[in-house]
Amino acid sequence: MSTPSHSTAQNDTSPEAFIRVAIPTPLRRLFDYLPSASYPVEAIKPGCRVTVPFGSRELVGIVMSIEANSDIPSNKLKPIISILDNQPLLPKDIIQLCQWAARYYHHSVGETLSQALPKNLRIGKPASMGSIPFWFASSELDAETANLLQRSKKQLAAFELISNAPNGLNGTELLESGFSRAILQSLSKKGLIESRDIEPSSLPFTEQNSPLKSAHLIMNDEQHYACEAITDGLGSFNTYLLEGVTGSGKTEVYLQTISAALAKGLQTLVLIPEIGLTPQTVKRFRDRFNVPVACLHSGLSDGERLQGWLEASRCSAGILISTRSGIFTPMPNLGLIIVDEEHDSSYKQQESLRYNARDLAIYRGSQANCPVVLGSATPSLETLHNARQGKYTQLHLKQRAGNAKPPAMELLDMRHQLVKDGLSTELLQRIGAHLARGNQVMIFLNRRGYAPSMICQDCGSIIDCHHCDAHMTIHRFPPHLHCHHCDLQQPIPWQCPSCQSRKLQPVGQGTEKAEQTLSQHFPSYPVIRIDRDTTRKKQALGEMLEKINTGKPCILLGTQMLAKGHHFPDVTLVAIINADAGLFSSDFRGSEKTGQLIMQVAGRAGRGHKPGQVIIQTYNPEHPSLQLLSMNDYGRFADSLFVERRHLNLPPEGYLTLVRSESMNQGESETLLSALRQYAEHNKGQLTDTRLLGPIPAPMEKRQGRYRWHLLIHGKDRKDLHRVVEGMVSFLESHRLPRQLKWTVDIDPQEMS
Ligand code: ADP
Ligand code: ZN
Ligand code: ZN
Repeated sequence: MSTPSHSTAQNDTSPEAFIRVAIPTPLRRLFDYLPSASYPVEAIKPGCRVTVPFGSRELVGIVMSIEANSDIPSNKLKPIISILDNQPLLPKDIIQLCQWAARYYHHSVGETLSQALPKNLRIGKPASMGSIPFWFASSELDAETANLLQRSKKQLAAFELISNAPNGLNGTELLESGFSRAILQSLSKKGLIESRDIEPSSLPFTEQNSPLKSAHLIMNDEQHYACEAITDGLGSFNTYLLEGVTGSGKTEVYLQTISAALAKGLQTLVLIPEIGLTPQTVKRFRDRFNVPVACLHSGLSDGERLQGWLEASRCSAGILISTRSGIFTPMPNLGLIIVDEEHDSSYKQQESLRYNARDLAIYRGSQANCPVVLGSATPSLETLHNARQGKYTQLHLKQRAGNAKPPAMELLDMRHQLVKDGLSTELLQRIGAHLARGNQVMIFLNRRGYAPSMICQDCGSIIDCHHCDAHMTIHRFPPHLHCHHCDLQQPIPWQCPSCQSRKLQPVGQGTEKAEQTLSQHFPSYPVIRIDRDTTRKKQALGEMLEKINTGKPCILLGTQMLAKGHHFPDVTLVAIINADAGLFSSDFRGSEKTGQLIMQVAGRAGRGHKPGQVIIQTYNPEHPSLQLLSMNDYGRFADSLFVERRHLNLPPEGYLTLVRSESMNQGESETLLSALRQYAEHNKGQLTDTRLLGPIPAPMEKRQGRYRWHLLIHGKDRKDLHRVVEGMVSFLESHRLPRQLKWTVDIDPQEMS
């Protein structure tokens, strides 16, 4: 039987165009689809979202290009299901940024683009703001209402604020001013305010007549010089390291530089660490400028995040303040990028696309041809290295702003002290003295829970987690044992699981125990504990910060959440209870991180008019790092670390890539990484400056029931290193592995855990 000529038939129906789509799958390639009758190719533009069939699923992908040819015969291709955007959602520069990031981090472009979108867009919701509720006053502020509200000062203040806003205020703005949803509900029940759904303004920010809401401060010489240097650089790409001691007024430099950018019609992207982005931070920017300030962070709802993203990408916001993911937000008039606390580890994503937003910020600055400002009191060694090599322009703020003086630092030798629950008698006396003078005291302890472990006094065994190589932490409120690595929770046992003895004792101290000890010792002062457990509720942190800002004497006790960005003018004493913990860490960045943390915590002391004092409790007062830090000399501390790193051939001396593997079955990860090493050794050829280390077990080999191994690759030359890693990734991808055996590649790893 003669069949009709297959090729002719195909030619007749053969489409002239193929739609090349990036799809959120780990596969590092693009996929071709066909247009359809309802979605002809003319309607499809690169940067638009489409839904497509993928296996048995329907996924949202991004159109990358329209092609005339495909490697796959068209009868094997499927048509797209629908187009979600009329206009490109992602502009060229963001697609290019994502392609660059995908290549650099050896990740799939589809997943990279997908995670560049806020969740609502990622799952295919329309790119429109919709309307959001705004609050309006429905009554006059007269004697009667004042009388009605005399019992609640907060409600009265909220009502006053709303009465003075003819265009209404939305819930987020009110929250930033310290008014909770509950306050608004009470006012609404009394019939004083009402909520109406309003479409947020989409006017371009440049239409705003007077961008300034309140006057700038008068800067000191150093601030002035820094601000002028960056402002002069507007319109061209350059990276600045703004190294300013804590309290030196870096934010004021940001604000005035932003002001200059706004005057030129340019948008600014401000990246802030995870914990630093509190409503208070955003308020500082909104209080200064009339132009809309958009923000993106994990405390917002998906709808609010979409709104912030759209405001920035449609130029209705002049400023976007965001945690790391904001680096992927389209900003058509982008003219300035600021990365505050550039050393902060939250800029590095620790899953999926393991990008560092600080590093991407520099790429983005080169794309947008604009200045990138990296600000920190304690810059990372990588950044310092780049600055010293002349790649970055170094700007210094050596003085604290206003009248504040640098804090006096002191090492307290614990070896000759009477110690109760980790607090020395000497420290307790000093705390008492500061409180008695009407000041606030901040105590830093980087361990939440009651005690980090429970030991049997008869047989010496410690209660461990079944799933991890880790001790169970004791919590008292409510009482239970908790593994901080896998979240396993169980009741506190009566008896030792090994010898049935009843003599189980907590060892060490966490913030809960310190809270108990401090409350007993200073019964007339409130102890405000700030850690992950006490700030779980959405508004809890805000309420605690408010209490602190009344300025009344109190003890603030907390983990590293306290270290960052906060400005508490009434804190005169800062104490670091256990400075030794981080100094002997197995991670090569351990001392750098500890030093930064100590300097940042110390920087919370004496930021107002009153002088500050810092006490560091240690059993190793001769330790060279502590010596340098206690002299308030981060620069020399960093120098000493440079020597160490050079000696060990570790970044910033050369570059690192870490391949991790984990499996439920012992032995599998090691076998995989050994095979990978063999392959790499065999194939690296002339790239002799690339060295392999491992496989070695991860510092915590077993975690969440999985056995974890590492293979480390060090290279003097980035390009060579990337070539070796690319080969290794292809090797891993080409093998069908058992489902429970996983691997990941981490370029420029921050944590070796
Ligand atoms: P940093 O971010 O460097 O730690 P901040 O920007 O938070 O410091 O500034 C610390 C304090 O100093 C803030 O209360 C700020 O308002 C104040 N400040 C900054 N610059 C000046 C200035 N030029 N004159 C007076 N006060 C200033
Ligand atoms: Zn026992
Ligand atoms: Zn565990």
